Amino acid sequence: MKKVLITGAAGFLGSHLCDRFIKEGYHVIGMDNFITGDKNNINHLVDNTNFKFIEHNVTDFVKIDGSLDYILHFASPASPIDYLKIPIQTLKVGSLGTHNLLGLAKAKKARILIASTSEVYGDPLIHPQTEDYYGNVNTIGPRGVYDEAKRFQESITMAYHRFHGLETRIVRIFNTYGPRMRLNDGRVIPAFMGQALRGEDLTIFGDGSQTRSFCYVDDQVEGIYKLLLSDYSFPVNIGNPHEITIKEFAEEVIKLTATSQKVIYKELPQDDPLQRQPDISLAKKLLNWEPKIGREEGMRITYEYFKTLSKEELFKSDH
Ligand code: NAD
Ligand code: UDP
Repeated sequence: MKKVLITGAAGFLGSHLCDRFIKEGYHVIGMDNFITGDKNNINHLVDNTNFKFIEHNVTDFVKIDGSLDYILHFASPASPIDYLKIPIQTLKVGSLGTHNLLGLAKAKKARILIASTSEVYGDPLIHPQTEDYYGNVNTIGPRGVYDEAKRFQESITMAYHRFHGLETRIVRIFNTYGPRMRLNDGRVIPAFMGQALRGEDLTIFGDGSQTRSFCYVDDQVEGIYKLLLSDYSFPVNIGNPHEITIKEFAEEVIKLTATSQKVIYKELPQDDPLQRQPDISLAKKLLNWEPKIGREEGMRITYEYFKTLSKEELFKSDH
């Protein structure tokens, strides 16, 4: 039985990856320090004999007994609200944490996949974004703590690949959504869902003309799984190229949730990228992968999930 270590296991993507690898017959070791994650995301796995959980901060030395075949490094705050609240931890998990996991991969002769992001392209000057675009990041802006941690993460991963011959994979994840997103993580989908369910107006930052391209979590997980098993060491974009303005998206959410709410406008956060759309030609060619779940279906499933939250969860300011 192959063994895989997944960091960030109690988070949104990490928990879905744990489910997928268990389903594929792996022994999964999940690791998390719960800084932005939630025990509830992995509660259903704790009695599974093929799952083991270790509570640990990966910026400290990571020790695993026995062999390991794969490591997926997904630990990191991922939403602007989170990484603005804990900027130093964000820089540390992307740099020191990644270094620890690369060291572990080298010691165990394991293949490692790291979770990078479309944020390495910053506020992009080319559209859609291809993997060979170097990006436009403000290193000293508020989002720099996340963007630069991820850019460093890519660099050190390539250095381990070139210098130590480590088997490495880099996925550049574009905005992904689905069940288990934290209601109050500030990202636009949980924000709009929470507002709709609480009967509040939907907050659009800026004039809403900025664009994003939203990928349903199952499609993302499938892309990551295929990339891990491929033999390609350079970064690959995984996301859904179907682009929409935030204003149109708010209208879709109002229609989906059948609420009578309006939209209200708030200030656009500094360095908020004005447009984002992945070019996924490489993933299509290399992995024979493309997203299958459209926004209508994905958002319906996601809304069903948010509807299951209790009133208490819906109204508490953070968790
Ligand atoms: P999330 O906040 O739901 O999950 C991150 C998990 O990492 C949390 O459970 C958190 O507690 C854990 N964590 C953070 N720092 C840690 C540390 N030092 N030690 C141990 N655990 C730690 O976020 P997510 O959306 O699931 O994102 C997961 C990964 O995917 C991140 O690396 C993120 O940068 C990347 N990513 C996500 C998206 C997206 O749209 N969801 C987009 C681009 C990149
Ligand atoms: N956004 C918004 N209202 C909200 C939360 C976010 O208009 O309540 C906007 C945000 O400014 C950005 C887009 O939605 O332009 C996506 O934001 P998110 O935080 O989900 O992701 P990211 O900016 O990291 O792509």
